[in-house]
Amino acid sequence: MRAMTYRGPYRVRVEEKPDPRIEHPNDAVVRVERAAICGSDLHLYHGMMPDTRVGHTFGHEFIGVVEEVGSSVSSLTVGDRVMVPFNVYCGSCWFCARGLFSNCHNVNPNATAVGGIYGYSHTTGGYDGGQAERVRVPFADVGPSVVPEWLDAEDALLMTDALSTGYFGAQLASIHEGDTVVVLGAGPVGLFAARSAWFMGAGRVIVVDQLEYRLEKARTFAHAETINFAEVDDVVLEMKQQTDFLGADSVIDAVGAEADGNFTQQVTASKLKLQGGSPTALNWAIDGVRKGGTVSAVGAYGPIPSAVKFGDAMNKGLTINTNQAPVKRQWPRLLEHIQAGHFRPSDIVTHRIPLEHIDEAYHLFSSKLDDCIKTVIVP
Ligand code: NAD
Ligand code: ZN
Repeated sequence: MRAMTYRGPYRVRVEEKPDPRIEHPNDAVVRVERAAICGSDLHLYHGMMPDTRVGHTFGHEFIGVVEEVGSSVSSLTVGDRVMVPFNVYCGSCWFCARGLFSNCHNVNPNATAVGGIYGYSHTTGGYDGGQAERVRVPFADVGPSVVPEWLDAEDALLMTDALSTGYFGAQLASIHEGDTVVVLGAGPVGLFAARSAWFMGAGRVIVVDQLEYRLEKARTFAHAETINFAEVDDVVLEMKQQTDFLGADSVIDAVGAEADGNFTQQVTASKLKLQGGSPTALNWAIDGVRKGGTVSAVGAYGPIPSAVKFGDAMNKGLTINTNQAPVKRQWPRLLEHIQAGHFRPSDIVTHRIPLEHIDEAYHLFSSKLDDCIKTVIVP
């Protein structure tokens, strides 16, 4: 089959790879209909995730059709059209039993923290991902769900991560009626977090980024006020000024580690190791939230240590909530909102690019060229 493969920092290409097979009675093989590139893929692309191996296929956001099932799979049949959450999880360990699907204990022998994620390096289990014609789906009775007839393919695709993660980010922000919520980052995750904050009773939503075309989307899609941090001297002061100098009730970090302030500059893996992850957005969140407020950190920093202002967080009495999203937990509420016509998630999709042009797709999304927000990959 044709599949995206990692060749080293800033280098990806499409190659011929053996078709995935059923390796365990619980597996299914899914023929991918649509995949997407996520901000998390950029951490791998930028060489910031340890144990990202040459030849690994990325892609944790995908939908497709079940082509083959293992002998013990009972909830799916060949021909089913499924959306697959980015988490690989067993569904029955101590953590899964408590809804902590992203912390499953049985899928990733290499890590003590994170569970399994498709196409997200050997740090998260080494599962090949869905930026390919086919993908092996372990624990096929647990993660995937049949796509409802009425649900648009791209909306279903966004359910597998960006949308569910944005919604989760808003949930972690513990929003009360009338609260002021600041969202750092106007990428797909930030836009969905901002849109979701209204569902949870926010009274004001303010989105911060430096890319004007994304802030425009935050205004139209998420009905948010915006701050362009490149146009103010001090973004934390700006947040304070806009919140009666108390600070926001909650701040959601939907940025995570940035490879470099300069999007187009290439950064070698060794330099990144020295720098560690940049916690800029997380520290802005800690500084910009009010005393006793909540920071929701859904931006990803990987396992590289970074200098978080923990002392200030403690002295302010903050609550910091964080995790990789347990995607499927968000699905029932999101399906209700979409079916009721409250919003159309796929309004944020800007590019549809054939798998064969995966290198261009990564370059475009990494460098934020051509007003790119969300890129859909078509095998
Ligand atoms: P993206 O790269 O499209 O968006 C990031 C945005 O942040 C960009 O628009 C960028 O201009 C902006 N930005 C950069 N520095 C900033 C700063 N200091 N303040 C405010 N904005 C800043 O990525 P995305 O797909 O939206 O993903 C966002 C983050 O969420 C990534 O770190 C990704 O790894 C993470 N993520 C986490 C989960 C999870 O389960 N927790 C799931 C998906 C993605
Ligand atoms: Zn993702």
